[in-house]
Amino acid sequence: MSADTIVPGDIVVLESGDVVSADMRLVEAKNLFADESTLTGESVPVEKGIAPVATDAIIAEQTSMAHKGTAITRGIGLGVVVATGMATELGLTAKLVVEAEEDDSPLERKLAQLTSQLVKATIAITVVIAVAGMAAGRDLVLMLKASIALAVAAIPEGLPIVATMALARGMWRMAKRNVVVERLSAVETLGATTVVCTDKTGTLTENRMTVERLWLPSGRYQLHPDKGVIDTSGRKAAIDGALQRALEVGVLCATATLKSEDEQGAGDPMELALLRLGSHAGLDREDLLAAWPERQEIAFDTETKMMATAHERDGHLFVVIKGAPEAVLDASTMIGSEALGTSVRDDWLRHAASLAAEGLRVLALAEATIPLDAMPAYESLTFLGLVGFRDPPRVEVTEAIAACRHAGLRVVMVTGDHATTAQRIAEQVDIAEPGSSVVEGRELAALGALGEHERRRLLSTSVFARVTPAQKLDLVRLYQSAGEVVAMTGDGVNDAPALQKADIGVAMGLRGTEVAREAADIVLRDDSFGSIVAAIREGRVIFSNLRRFLVYLLSCNISEVMVVALAVVAGLPLPLLPLQILFLNLVTDIFPAFALATGEGERDVLRRPPRDPRESLLARPQWIFIVTYGAVLTAATLGALLIGSLVLELEGEALVTVSFLTLAFAQLAHVLNMRGRGASVFVNAVTTNPYVWLALIFCAGLLVGAVYAPPIANALQITAPDQAGWMLVAGASLMPLVLGIIFSAARAILGRKSRE
Ligand code: ATP
Repeated sequence: MSADTIVPGDIVVLESGDVVSADMRLVEAKNLFADESTLTGESVPVEKGIAPVATDAIIAEQTSMAHKGTAITRGIGLGVVVATGMATELGLTAKLVVEAEEDDSPLERKLAQLTSQLVKATIAITVVIAVAGMAAGRDLVLMLKASIALAVAAIPEGLPIVATMALARGMWRMAKRNVVVERLSAVETLGATTVVCTDKTGTLTENRMTVERLWLPSGRYQLHPDKGVIDTSGRKAAIDGALQRALEVGVLCATATLKSEDEQGAGDPMELALLRLGSHAGLDREDLLAAWPERQEIAFDTETKMMATAHERDGHLFVVIKGAPEAVLDASTMIGSEALGTSVRDDWLRHAASLAAEGLRVLALAEATIPLDAMPAYESLTFLGLVGFRDPPRVEVTEAIAACRHAGLRVVMVTGDHATTAQRIAEQVDIAEPGSSVVEGRELAALGALGEHERRRLLSTSVFARVTPAQKLDLVRLYQSAGEVVAMTGDGVNDAPALQKADIGVAMGLRGTEVAREAADIVLRDDSFGSIVAAIREGRVIFSNLRRFLVYLLSCNISEVMVVALAVVAGLPLPLLPLQILFLNLVTDIFPAFALATGEGERDVLRRPPRDPRESLLARPQWIFIVTYGAVLTAATLGALLIGSLVLELEGEALVTVSFLTLAFAQLAHVLNMRGRGASVFVNAVTTNPYVWLALIFCAGLLVGAVYAPPIANALQITAPDQAGWMLVAGASLMPLVLGIIFSAARAILGRKSRE
């Protein structure tokens, strides 16, 4: 029956591996455990029963209920549906999440805060200018008009639109690199990320597995692409006895389907690899299942690190198990027909380690035969042998990791796999030096009790192996307590709490569960580590674009306010008329600012250390830049006004035209000052942005057009300057750019001197 036809009152059978489809009151429960991490954040499966609980029990204490969205990890039960869809606890939480997501992101809040501060400051300044102007005997109406125009000019009304455009374009670029941004706030945090915790299988490796080794007590085998299963002499192995049994067990507990024609199939790559191994010996899972029907499946659990299926065979339950070698060996008491003693167990653990040292992912196989009505359990198993899988590193990963290193980011491997396999792969992709130490997840459980020395050792570790999802959460906490901004990858349901706690939760689009995707901030459509680096790059670019655009906008706006304010205070003729201020704003606030906000960013953006997350959008150096260039633009405009009046003996409209055009062209040229600290004057993020040049040409055209098109010229009260007038405009408006270049050169020389 399909989950969407379930209604309250229905009785549902729950089995290990099921995801509960509605809220239900349990009426029967046999050894029933549920993973409720989706709802409660509790990553350890909880035991369920039928005993009633208190009416005010919180979800985590409602042991007689199975909730929608949770997963049954063990046992069997019966439940009566009491709520479906949005009426379930998961539905109510989803509603809360949707409502919560409508909240502004920190970036939006910072922008709103900045705008409101600017509005207040502008109102105060314009009131002062209006009062000062009137006190100086200026025309009342003109002063009022000028104050209103100034208020309009100084308030960056384009800011929300341009900020949204910058984010949207950044997100579009990320989408092209296979990164889907789930939460807007992630964009800002991405740029400040300092530690990237990545899993191994599928993110650093291809997740294209092939069996390479099969080690059984009766002999050692390899899988040859043409010859099939071969023995140590390189000859095709005779498939009988123990080998046949191991292959059957491998195929039976590989819950995937292989399409024999092309050896592709649906399911986990590791399980498919086992099916392919079996197919070399003529084994087909469907045929085996027809002979020995499957009666139960205990799904893989990251806590037990094993999975099993149980089949009816000759009046018994034949249980086949696969899992991490140490877990399977721990649960095994027999090997062949002999008891498994400690020394033989240690030998097999060493064999597993030696396969892992070749970079292979190692699984152990085991079996048990129990009465038909018994409950399969991980105990008294017969150990069958080891399988080694090859999962090659992705080609692009080493380069991406080197890029992270240059960008001041630490990459840490956090895997559920064996320590030696993890170390080997970490060496291959340059995450860890050969011989560096690997920390196992269980050390993380004792975090609270660790001394400072141990804590530092963990913080400097690059490979964490045999880590459970709960320990991933501990690891995120450890890094955050050290002030790091952590990105953590995850794919399983149990990873959700760690993804949520991490500053950037990264879910996998191909391998990931829906729950992991919902908990994450970004989703990688191709599961590749390289895409995380691309996302971090874009995060940095978006932040620096926003900053660049804000700095440009504010330095221009401040210059307009200063020009008018100083002229009023000094008793000079008004250098800008109200309509001219509005026109100027239209031209400079929109096109160049837009172009700056959507640029591709500096080429070396990944060669710089991460930004301090506490740093505000406009920090001290940006304010110094804004005020300095605001003053330089003002000086150029008032200088042109003075020279126009004293040298060229202009007055009235002709004089105002010179100051208006000077400020307008100076603001356009000032775009080129936005190249960023230390960047080359000629080749930088601004000069290589074609939109900037388009905007500059378009705006210069608009200005010249306004001068020579009589209706606009009349409206703006400007008259076309003569040759001397244009030369003055050209000279004065280039001043801020020339000064900017001189400042850059001086800073470069001083920087070099101080380094010497
Ligand atoms: P990563 O965290 O990098 O993806 P992983 O897949 O090895 O690594 P887990 O999924 O936590 O991490 O698995 C832990 C161990 O459990 C594996 O190393 C393997 O030994 C065993 N294992 C994983 N998947 C299965 C499975 N489907 N069946 C049986 N055992 C499994």
